Amino acid sequence: MDVVTVEHLSKSYGDLQVLSDISFSVREGEVLAIIGPSGSGKSTLLRAVTHLEPATGGSIAVCGTRILDGGVYADPATLRAALLKLGLVFQDFNLFPHFSVLRNITEAQVRVLRRGKDEARAVALALLDKMGLADKAAAYPCELSGGQKQRVSIARALALDPKVLLFDEPTSALDPELTGEILKVMRTLAAEKRTMVVVTHEMGFAREVADRAMLMDAGVIVEEGPARELIDNPRNERTRAFLKRFS
Ligand code: ADP
Ligand code: MG
Repeated sequence: MDVVTVEHLSKSYGDLQVLSDISFSVREGEVLAIIGPSGSGKSTLLRAVTHLEPATGGSIAVCGTRILDGGVYADPATLRAALLKLGLVFQDFNLFPHFSVLRNITEAQVRVLRRGKDEARAVALALLDKMGLADKAAAYPCELSGGQKQRVSIARALALDPKVLLFDEPTSALDPELTGEILKVMRTLAAEKRTMVVVTHEMGFAREVADRAMLMDAGVIVEEGPARELIDNPRNERTRAFLKRFS
């Protein structure tokens, strides 16, 4: 089953066409890596799918619910319910600086899912434990390393029980020695068969962990296929040129 289906998606900022005729789907349980040069539209694509930025045309379905149909959005209640199935993890963590780690993870559970405080707390503590951060519940984001902040933001996304996790360069703001700890968490999530879409420049991770990969350039999907095949034997000239930078 497809968890996300995108058809002919387009997005422009004024005269600047940032996404053109983007079509792809994400199947349940798979990891899809999105690679491509800076400025190619990767973040805009994740932001359009999660409705942080409205698309200008095309269609999007999430778990069978059409949230965008020929450039027209579903009604607010349908949209809100469907978007809850998408969990986004940002490059720069986006934690609330004035909330403790625990409250960063409980806040949306209580406000959005209407969970009771005790249940939200139990969910948060279990996720912090899973992330190796059981002792950081009372800490504030400023007291954490970048890797710890990113693990908190992954816990925050997981707390809302999304059907798919979307990561926008989750390790790009981290020192190389902290990148490994986040990739390890993501490997664990992949092994648990979580559906994930990962924008990344970590080609080793994409090659080993992702099932499929797609290369974006200048707002279009240039090539798409099994991750290992695409990275080891790119067919398209633009994919080849891009991957050369990593070898
Ligand atoms: P990537 O994530 O692949 O680096 P982005 O999606 O961030 O690329 O950006 C794609 C293009 O859209 C770039 O040319 C960028 O300058 C432009 N862009 C992104 N956000 C905005 C915005 N809010 N207003 C105008 N242009 C934008
Ligand atoms: Mg980006």
